[in-house]
Amino acid sequence: MPKNLAELQAVLAKAKEDDAIVRVSGQRHSQPPLVISSNPARTTYLVDMACYADEATNNQRMLVVSESPPQVIVNPGVREDELDAFLTNNSLMLKTVTAGGFFSLGGMTAVDVHGGTVNEGIFAETVSSFTIIKADGSQKTIAASPDIDFARVSLGGIGIVTSMTLEALERQYKDTLIGSVDFVPWATDEFNEDGFTQTFSALLAQYQQGGRLEVFFNPYAAQLDKHFLALGWQRNSMPVTPLSPEQPYDTCTSADGGEGDFGADYIKDQDLAIGAAVIAQEAGNSLEAALITGTAMLATKGWAEEANAAFSDLWLTQATRVMFMSYFIELPTLDAVGLRRAWLGLNKVAELVKGNGQEFYIAAPMEFRFIKGGSTAMSGTFTSNPGNTYFVNLDLIGFVPGNGAAYSDALLNFFAKVERYWFETLNGIPHHGKMYGFYDPSLDGESFSPEPFNPNFLEKLRERRSKFPEFKTFCKQEDPDGRFYNEYLQLLLGA
Ligand SMILES: Cc1cc2nc3c(=O)[nH]c(=O)nc-3n(C[C@H](O)[C@H](O)[C@H](O)COP(=O)(O)OP(=O)(O)OC[C@H]3O[C@@H](n4cnc5c(N)ncnc54)[C@H](O)[C@@H]3O)c2cc1C
Repeated sequence: MPKNLAELQAVLAKAKEDDAIVRVSGQRHSQPPLVISSNPARTTYLVDMACYADEATNNQRMLVVSESPPQVIVNPGVREDELDAFLTNNSLMLKTVTAGGFFSLGGMTAVDVHGGTVNEGIFAETVSSFTIIKADGSQKTIAASPDIDFARVSLGGIGIVTSMTLEALERQYKDTLIGSVDFVPWATDEFNEDGFTQTFSALLAQYQQGGRLEVFFNPYAAQLDKHFLALGWQRNSMPVTPLSPEQPYDTCTSADGGEGDFGADYIKDQDLAIGAAVIAQEAGNSLEAALITGTAMLATKGWAEEANAAFSDLWLTQATRVMFMSYFIELPTLDAVGLRRAWLGLNKVAELVKGNGQEFYIAAPMEFRFIKGGSTAMSGTFTSNPGNTYFVNLDLIGFVPGNGAAYSDALLNFFAKVERYWFETLNGIPHHGKMYGFYDPSLDGESFSPEPFNPNFLEKLRERRSKFPEFKTFCKQEDPDGRFYNEYLQLLLGA
């Protein structure tokens, strides 16, 4: 847990001596093996940047460097909620935020993390420059194209990010951003394409000019209440409530030199509820899963209302113990033609959980958000036409027993079925911070893999992503000894 450049350089020198692989940890909420593998083949150093600061930020952990345009320099170990409070205290705010605030800036920019700002790309695209330390201890700043397209979503493969310059927005008042929480009725009795495109054409028209929109879908709603849960945030043209000082969360103090919290924790007192959800997923009928999903929608509504009352859009304050699969699907326009693809992706899950006798029922709502395409090579939102292309991100959650227990066959099979459709039919691309590769594309349509990240799936993904070889070449150029070419990258890009 280095606190300054000299300590970080010493870690790298020792890693060279031990011929170790060097990986970086943020708040450890990405799915393994992105941060660390359970059984690393080589000696591995895990560097935690929670307390790091260097000259880039005058040895502080965050610094406002320009008021117009608003820019801040941040160390990567800083958490999003810590930065959010710092920005508020400087009459600023982020262009886009995640649902939670408990991720590190390093983790949010090394992965294709996104928010719900319809007219913004992934979070890393709000960063205009990265300073990284290379394996030999030298520092390098990357601010221009094409290199920045590899430095954003670097997956830890080009070096350790030691600071980044973030483009922010002005925020003079608390109510500059006004949140809303609405149950939006389905336009039709069934969950069908016409109703969906009608509802979202109208909704997106309100949010396309800079608003933020996060939507939850209950695939069982046709039996219960036919509503989406829409969390929205809009710019307010007549704000009046003055900002009040906030006490930032202190990631470093909380880490307590390695003795404290080991990354942002998940909610511990939910074990009973999670146990019930695990059972409901495989109960053989949808009743319990539908009830738990409905309850989760209500809980989400409550959390968002609480955040809105405090004029915050970071509504999720802690993680539940779950696994995710998340895909970006190109729309490519936000009209009925594009929205149809979002509907197809959601409807696949609704079809799979219909009726009794299914092997698996999801027990959490699906979340979806709209994101602008961009030029970041390794992002699922990469497009050769940035600026005019939109993606929908679909999130699927599975509850897991924990304590290292293997995922059940029913869960793996369900995720594989959904993934085949999202990947093969809708041409989707997986989010790197979540689980994917639940099947082997060379095997028949009903099979699933005993664990995620199936190597043949990754090979197929590589064939589809024209930018992967360029990124691999860039990693080799910046890191000729492969000190940062970790097991996840070897799996993803080939050894
Ligand atoms: C409950 C929950 C909600 C979520 N909500 C969202 C959401 O709203 N939107 C979304 O897109 N994703 C979401 N995610 C995914 C999450 O945002 C990402 O997985 C993110 O990367 C986690 O950040 P972290 O600090 O935990 O990073 P980690 O998991 O610790 O690290 C992620 C990657 O970043 C690398 N890294 C970290 N710091 C550095 C550095 N300084 N230099 C180089 N590499 C570095 C690590 O090596 C690793 O490869 C969610 C996940 C959970 C569990």
